[in-house]
Amino acid sequence: MSFNLENLLRDNIKKLVPYSSARDEFKGEASVLLDANENSFGSPLSHHYNRYPDPLQHQVKSKLSSIKGVPADNIFLGNGSDEAIDILYRAFCKPGVDNVILVPPTYGMYEVSANINDVEIRKVNLSPDYQLNLDGIAAAIDANTKLIFICSPNNPTGNSIRRQDIETVLTNFDGIVVIDEAYINFSKQRSFTQELNEFPNLVILQTLSKAWGLAALRLGMAFASKEIIAVFNKIKPPYNINQATQDLVLEALGNVEQVNTWIKDTVAEREKLVEALATIEQIHHITPSDANFILAKLVEPRELYNFLVNKGIIVRDRSKVELCEGCLRITVGTADENVKLIEAIKQFYI
Ligand SMILES: *Cc1c(COP(=O)(O)O)cnc(C)c1O
Repeated sequence: MSFNLENLLRDNIKKLVPYSSARDEFKGEASVLLDANENSFGSPLSHHYNRYPDPLQHQVKSKLSSIKGVPADNIFLGNGSDEAIDILYRAFCKPGVDNVILVPPTYGMYEVSANINDVEIRKVNLSPDYQLNLDGIAAAIDANTKLIFICSPNNPTGNSIRRQDIETVLTNFDGIVVIDEAYINFSKQRSFTQELNEFPNLVILQTLSKAWGLAALRLGMAFASKEIIAVFNKIKPPYNINQATQDLVLEALGNVEQVNTWIKDTVAEREKLVEALATIEQIHHITPSDANFILAKLVEPRELYNFLVNKGIIVRDRSKVELCEGCLRITVGTADENVKLIEAIKQFYI
């Protein structure tokens, strides 16, 4: 096995001269900024947003670096994880030529982004217990396979993928292995962020949209080697993280204790919810979850889904998804919300 970033990159990206913004070309202290055609008078708001934001988000990355234990040069920030997913395709996959491996049932954006970028998808389904089919993955790889996406804990199943299996893929595949850790905060498993030095082909995705409670701000993170992060920075739109998001995220990152409390509460509520649902005989199976949601296999999923909608309770119908037949995906809510949900489900099955 030999990983070689230069060989993996698309030629147009290797040759790309990135846009050089006004704020890239000037660094340092200045009191008169007449370089970027901004409105020098201000913004029609109480807080001013008339200046372009820091293209590389140094303050946010420095704070994230200390929270995550990852150097700032190994961090990319995107407009949601979705931006990092799209950039992975644009950096590594030649439309109409290259392919990627997905392991369904999994997060839908990997497939949508592949289709947008005209990249072939090779699907190797998870096993019935929602683990990797390592032989199937090995058989699907060819010289044009550039990316493998592994989501752990996995959406929509909620379980973690065995660490040993992920390491096997990382060791045996010459392309990029993307581990999506959107739900890692709720998991007993260790993040892969401390293994970046071990695996040059590793890209980890995380997000502030779930445990951090900042879905509306749109901040996704990618952790990878400095070389891969430099490629992402070359491709991204110059000002992809707006100033309001940078300001609010910086403030939120000062509140780790609050987030940790919510994580504990969510996990406790998840266990209570599983216990309560397990007593309902029409609920046949609940996949052990390492996330802030559960996947439940139950009688008449579509009818229950509609019944809940009529009560103003919205869950996710996954009952037609391969390997999730008959399942609803339910996010763990507050104690009150979960009680309402359980009562409504019992009412439906009476
Ligand atoms: C929710 C989710 C994300 C988050 O995406 P953002 O664009 O950062 O909000 C990423 N991956 C998975 C598997 C998710 O479920």
